[in-house]
Amino acid sequence: MPVQEVSLFEEAPDTAMSGLYAEIVFDRPLDHAYTYAVPPGLADAVTVGKRVLAPFGKGDRQTVGFCVGVTEKAPERAVKAIVQVLDAESLLPDSLLKLTRWMADYYLCGWGQVLNAVVPAAAKQLAGTKQVPLVELIPEVFWPKPTPPLPAKQKALLELLTKHAGAVEARQLLAEANSGSGPLRALIEKGLVRRKVGRIENPVTLVEEDPEPETVVEKPNLTLTEDQLRVWAVLEQAVRTGGFQPFLLHGVTGSGKTELYLRAIEEVIRQGKEALVLVPEISLTPQTIAAFKGRCGHVAVLHSHLHDAQRGAHWRRITQGKVEVIVGARSAVFAPTRNLGLIVIDEEHESSFKQDATPRYHGRDVAVMRARLENIPIILGSATPALESWHNAERGQYTLLSLPKRVAERPLPPVKLIDLRYDRHPDKRFHGISPTLERAMKHALDTKGQVILLLNRRGFATHLLCPACGHVEQCKFCDLAMIFHKDRNVAMCHYCGYEAKPVEKCPHCGMGQVKYQGMGTEKLEAEIASKFRGFRMARMDSDTMQKPGSHRRVLKAFERGEIDILLGTQMIAKGLDFPNVTMVGVINADIGLHQADFRAAERTFQLLAQVAGRTGRGPRGGSVFVQTFQPDHPCIGLASQHDFLTFAKGELEVRRQHHYPPFQRFARLVIRGKDEKTASDYADLLAAAFKPALESMQSAGETSDLRILGPAEAPIFRLKGYYRFHFQLQSPSSAYLHRVLRQVIPSVRVPANVDLTVDIDPQDMM
Ligand code: ADP
Ligand code: ZN
Repeated sequence: MPVQEVSLFEEAPDTAMSGLYAEIVFDRPLDHAYTYAVPPGLADAVTVGKRVLAPFGKGDRQTVGFCVGVTEKAPERAVKAIVQVLDAESLLPDSLLKLTRWMADYYLCGWGQVLNAVVPAAAKQLAGTKQVPLVELIPEVFWPKPTPPLPAKQKALLELLTKHAGAVEARQLLAEANSGSGPLRALIEKGLVRRKVGRIENPVTLVEEDPEPETVVEKPNLTLTEDQLRVWAVLEQAVRTGGFQPFLLHGVTGSGKTELYLRAIEEVIRQGKEALVLVPEISLTPQTIAAFKGRCGHVAVLHSHLHDAQRGAHWRRITQGKVEVIVGARSAVFAPTRNLGLIVIDEEHESSFKQDATPRYHGRDVAVMRARLENIPIILGSATPALESWHNAERGQYTLLSLPKRVAERPLPPVKLIDLRYDRHPDKRFHGISPTLERAMKHALDTKGQVILLLNRRGFATHLLCPACGHVEQCKFCDLAMIFHKDRNVAMCHYCGYEAKPVEKCPHCGMGQVKYQGMGTEKLEAEIASKFRGFRMARMDSDTMQKPGSHRRVLKAFERGEIDILLGTQMIAKGLDFPNVTMVGVINADIGLHQADFRAAERTFQLLAQVAGRTGRGPRGGSVFVQTFQPDHPCIGLASQHDFLTFAKGELEVRRQHHYPPFQRFARLVIRGKDEKTASDYADLLAAAFKPALESMQSAGETSDLRILGPAEAPIFRLKGYYRFHFQLQSPSSAYLHRVLRQVIPSVRVPANVDLTVDIDPQDMM
C-alpha cells in the first residue's frame, strides 16, 4: 500500500473514550485478558472475535491481540486505549471462543496463544481478498452547520463522491478526480466525508477451488449387515434427537464403519446442519476423500498440502455456511461452522491427533469438548481404540458400539508369525525378507494378488557402526544415531534434519571401515528389486511422498493394478481398502516395542492390527506374515489373533498397577537450554518449588494424590542442540494436577535462555 494512503488516514489521537472497554488477549503464555478503553471511532467496529492493535508490554509496542469481551463496566484503574480494529468481521463464532478458552485453561497456555494458533494465517490476512481504505459521503443531515466553505478542488471531489453510490476506494476516487490527497483529507477534517475500511476481492490471488479432480463414488446400494443395523439404530436415534452423546465405535478393520459415518452425516445434512470429520493426515487418501465427496453435498477437505489462500477460502466458505461436511486432519476440529450437527473421528487412537507445539492439544479430546459445548453427538471410531477411550467406554462416559465382524461374511485374515531367530537364509547373511516371507510373497504375486509390506523405518541404513571400536555415528545436535539415505548419499538425523556426508573410516578410532547397518525402507526396496525381478514396486514413506499429490498418484496406480508390491512406513498401514491385496507382510514387528514409553505395547498392537486389516478385504481373502524376534510377546501374539479385547484387558491392568493413564492423569514438563547447567539449575529450582506448594495445598485441605517423578534427563537428553530435563507428574485428579501446576509454574521465573513446555496428557515421552 503506498505510503501516501496510510498518512491520509492518520488522525489526531482520540482524547475522549466511548465508555466501552475491550478485553484483549495476546499471543503470550499468560492466563488473563487485559482491559483497554475503546475510542469512539472504534466503538462500532470492536466486537468479540476480531483482532485489534493495542499498546502492550515493554515500551507500549503496538501489539496484535484478540478481543474476547466488550463491556461497559469501567475498570478500577486507568487503562490504555486500543489503537485499531484489524478485522471487518469476527474471525470465529462464539462456540469456538468458548472452546479455545477451555483449551487455554486445560492445556495451561495463553488464550491468545490458542486463538492465534487456531485461526489460520490466511483467515487473518483474508488471503484472497485485500483490505483497502474506502471513503464515503457523510449524509448531509450530519454535516456541521453552517457548511464550511469549500475551495474548488474539494468541491469537485465532493461532487464526484456524490455520484458514487456508497463507499469508494480512496485511491480510485483520487485517480478519477486527478487529485492529490490534500483535498480529501480536508473534506474528512471538515466532517463531510468519512473513511471506512473495506475489503475487495484480490484479483491476483483469487482462490482456486480444490485443484484435485474429483473422483466421485456413487452411493452404493448396500444392505447393512446385522451388526451395522444394530449400531445404526442407536446412531440414527442420536443424530435425530441431537444432544451431547459420545460414542465409541469399535469395529474391526473392514467392518463397515465408514458406511455408518456416511449415513449419520447424511441425516445431519438433511436437517440443514453441518458435519465435521477428523481423520489422521495419512488417512486423507483419495479413497477417503472420494467416499465423502461422492456421498455428501458440499465437502471441504482440509489437508496439510493446502496453501494459505486455499485454507483461507475454505475458512470463509465454512463461515458463510457454504460447506456441509468438513473432512480434515487435527486442526479441522476448529472449523468455524455455523450449525454443527455431528463430529466423527476416524482412527481415534492415532497419536497424530496430538499437537506437539503450543497449544499442545489432543484433537480428539478437543473434539469431545466441542461436541459437549455445542450439545451434539460425536462418534469416535477405531478398530484399535486408544486405551483412554476404551476405559471411558468401560466406565460409561462413552457409549460403546461394536462391529465385531467384517462385512460380507469375510473373515479377518489369518496371521502367521515368522520367528526371525530361526527363519534364516542359508547364506547366513542378514536379509530383510526371510525365506518364509519370500515364499509367501511369491505365491501371492504368482496368483495375481497384490502385496503390502510394512517397515516402519525410512532411510537405507539405520546406523553407521564401526566394527573395530563400536562407535555409532551420532547427530551433532542430538543423542541419536544418524540414518544413512542412499538416494541422496547423506547421513541424516530424523529428529532435527541435520545432514552430513556419510563417513567411511570411523571418525572415532580412525581404523575401522564403517558398516551400514540396520534396515530402512530404501534398503528393503533394493532387496525386493533383486528378489522379485519383473514385479512392479512402489515405496511410500515421507522421503518419496514429499510432493503434493504423490500419495494419490501411487495409490491410484496401486488401485489400477499397476503396482504389485507396495512397501512403506506406517503411512500404508491405515485406511486403505484394496480388495486385491491378498498378502500383507510386516518386516519387523519389534520396532517400537522397546521405546522408553508406556504406550510402546499399545502402539505396536495398533500398528500390527491396522496393517493386518489391509488384506482379506475382497472375495479372494488374504493372509498376513509378521516377522519378529519375540513371537511370545503378548502384544504381538494378541495382534496376530486380532484380539483387541484381551489385549486391552491385560494392558489396562498393567497401567493400573503402574499408575499410568488412563487411571491417572499425566503432565510432562520439559526444560531445555543450550547451556546444560542453566537448564539443570532451573529444573532443580522448579523441583524445590513443588514441595512447599504441595504442603500448603494439603494444609488447605486438599487430599488428592500427586506423584512427581524428576527432574531427570529426558530419554533423548540432547535434542537439536538443547539439553533437556523433564518431570513427570501423575495424579488421579486432573483438576488437582492443574491447580498444582498453576500455582508452581509462575512461582519460578524461567531464565532467559531456558524454555519450559508443559504438556498435559503427553503422547511423546521422549
Ligand atoms: P472400516 O472402515 O470399518 O475398515 P470400511 O467402511 O472401509 O470398513 O468398509 C470396508 C468395505 O466394505 C468398503 O469397501 C465398504 O464399501 C464395504 N461395505 C460396508 N458396508 C457394507 C455392507 N453392508 N455390505 C457390503 N459391503 C459393505
Ligand atoms: Zn539431530
